[in-house]
Amino acid sequence: MTTASPGNQQAPAASPQELSGRFEQEFGTAPHGVWQAPGRVNLIGEHTDYNEGFVLPFAIDRTARVAVALRQDDSIRMLSTYGDQGTVTTTLGALQPGTAKGWTKYPLGVVWALRERGIDVPGLDLLLDSNVPLGAGLSSSHAIECAVITALNELTGAGLEARDMVLATQRAENDFVGAPTGIMDQSASLRGAKGHAVFLDCRDQTVRLVPFETEPAGLVLLVIDTKVSHSHADGGYASRRASCELGAEVMGVKALRDLDVADLEEAGGLLDEVTFRRVRHVVTENDRVLQTVELLAGSGPGAIGPLLDASHASMRDDFEISCPELDLAVDTARAHGAIGARMTGGGFGGAAIALTPMDSVQTVSEAVAKAFAQAGFTAPDIFAVSPAAGAMRVG
Ligand code: ADP
Ligand code: MG
Repeated sequence: MTTASPGNQQAPAASPQELSGRFEQEFGTAPHGVWQAPGRVNLIGEHTDYNEGFVLPFAIDRTARVAVALRQDDSIRMLSTYGDQGTVTTTLGALQPGTAKGWTKYPLGVVWALRERGIDVPGLDLLLDSNVPLGAGLSSSHAIECAVITALNELTGAGLEARDMVLATQRAENDFVGAPTGIMDQSASLRGAKGHAVFLDCRDQTVRLVPFETEPAGLVLLVIDTKVSHSHADGGYASRRASCELGAEVMGVKALRDLDVADLEEAGGLLDEVTFRRVRHVVTENDRVLQTVELLAGSGPGAIGPLLDASHASMRDDFEISCPELDLAVDTARAHGAIGARMTGGGFGGAAIALTPMDSVQTVSEAVAKAFAQAGFTAPDIFAVSPAAGAMRVG
């Protein structure tokens, strides 16, 4: 079978049949099925999630696939086609938050979170194959978790709704893996649909699918992975959250989501300069998400370029979470034909996106690669993604 290598942007994921065949070779029995879940790109709405605001991610055409068989005993065996860690073996009884190492903490976290909900997940064998690039800000970890929870929800007959699966995977990430992430990534992966973006209200978790198709508009959504590693755990993220909480408290609202652009004048008088700029980013970003949703529905993706640009400027200048590599990627893409570009994800590294006319894709890609080389930066990975289906059974 083709071994998918998340580092190799061209590698296809193994077909469900190939994955089943490999599973049988490894574990000696056929799997009970094959499920997949995509990575995601956030089109717009950054650092709005924990301010109870709006985000607009979409599921991408890069997926994690898992072949799974439930067992009669409490053994767990897991293998990934990526890397060379071999089969990892453990038991249900050994599942403790913070103890799992390596990639298996994601599927094990899901098993743990389901069992914490009282769902009787037995031992299992699992084979993973993914072509979501790792650590590029495309949520390869949530793709794994969402594929696994979709599989286990069906195999155990738990019957969880998508919104419960979102919360269970959040629990797995927060309490088992130890990453303080929100609900955006798994909402996109579990609730996304082909040709649509997922308009998510992070306050009440309601979702509206918004038509978002790049190809009919003659556009391509390029991802530029700067290869600068990002980390949720560092102080930058925590200090931004603290500023947002302070801003909300001083302004007397539950969360920054409750402020409008019109409230910024008053905020300017009450907040210190830095806190004001942090607040201004969140408030204007929420507004840009709403405007993007409206423009996508009314005019299509060709109209949203200026909002992507404004989002980047706001993160660079007001929220101060960009970095030289992200700025160079965005500026170079814009200068060579992209109609809008912004950093995406939590910041301090990771990826930028550039909405690019089809006939400028080559020019933009070459110009960005060249600019990175000239600046002495690590060569970026540049590839196209399109809005794809959410998690599902495929075999
Ligand atoms: P992101 O979710 O942005 O890609 P994370 O650091 O949250 O970045 O998740 C990346 C981790 O997910 C990797 O370090 C690895 O443990 C795991 N991972 C992702 N894809 C695979 C895979 N195909 N095989 C094994 N582990 C994987
Ligand atoms: Mg992740």
